[in-house]
Amino acid sequence: MPELPEVETVRRGLAPAMEGRRFVRVEAKRPDLRFPLPDAFADRLTGTRLETLGRRGKYLVGRLENDALLIMHLGMSGRFVVETDGAADTARPGAFHLDTGANAHAMHEHVVFHMEAGGTVRYSDPRRFGFMTIEESGDEAQNAFLQSLGPEPLDRAFTPKVLAAGLAGRKSPIKSALLDQAVVAGLGNIYVCEALFRSGISPKRIAASLVKQSGAPTDRLVRLTAMIKQVLSEAIEAGGSSLRDHAQADGSLGYFQHTFTVYDREGEPCVTPGCGRDVRRIVQSGRSTFYCSRCQR
Ligand SMILES: [Zn+2]
Repeated sequence: MPELPEVETVRRGLAPAMEGRRFVRVEAKRPDLRFPLPDAFADRLTGTRLETLGRRGKYLVGRLENDALLIMHLGMSGRFVVETDGAADTARPGAFHLDTGANAHAMHEHVVFHMEAGGTVRYSDPRRFGFMTIEESGDEAQNAFLQSLGPEPLDRAFTPKVLAAGLAGRKSPIKSALLDQAVVAGLGNIYVCEALFRSGISPKRIAASLVKQSGAPTDRLVRLTAMIKQVLSEAIEAGGSSLRDHAQADGSLGYFQHTFTVYDREGEPCVTPGCGRDVRRIVQSGRSTFYCSRCQR
């Protein structure tokens, strides 16, 4: 399931084809994804310019020229593919070109944006947990999906103090607390496991135990905040490389190979030199957690 770095990579891949461009034609091949598409979705977008394509947590947030927001979520299996026309376009800084001849998702292609200047953006989603909607007010605070999101972890404003305020009084395990999008936006199972490993914090630890009586962050929480930023930044960097290398054979954006230290490594030796234990998997709130019981306390 795509988390913040994957969504950010998708955003960076889509931006050259979409930002500052009008929707020339929009194909909605079915009336619904996870939710019904908004009324007259295709008509609503056609002829309108997308001014900017941003991201909030795991959501892509495009601002249309009349200030409405186009909000897109990839769900479990959503993919975007970009086709660009001709060399002129690929010469633009930040632009890229992919050969999409072998798009395995073609059967499940649900929405196609034909953009000004020849870019075509195709959205496919075999499991249809993704969705697209339009927030006419243009106000994130009025949107049901965006209004409850916590701070962006890569913002300067996301400090140990801010995270401490989100965790104070929480009796749930830190793993579960960090998956709560109201505590911090954009984290999912993979990057929570990785950040906790790098911080040496057990996923089972009670969240509130990382906050002092005064409400100030403990030293361990200061480290956790830094590690959250680090794992996300590294993954975005890796995603950027995958865009540059055109590494995706089917032209899809945002799914790239990572090397994880604990995630999905059950039974393999812990990477900490001299540790000697194997990575364990437990289930918390119905999700797999991977950790080292020696390195993480
Ligand atoms: Zn270890």
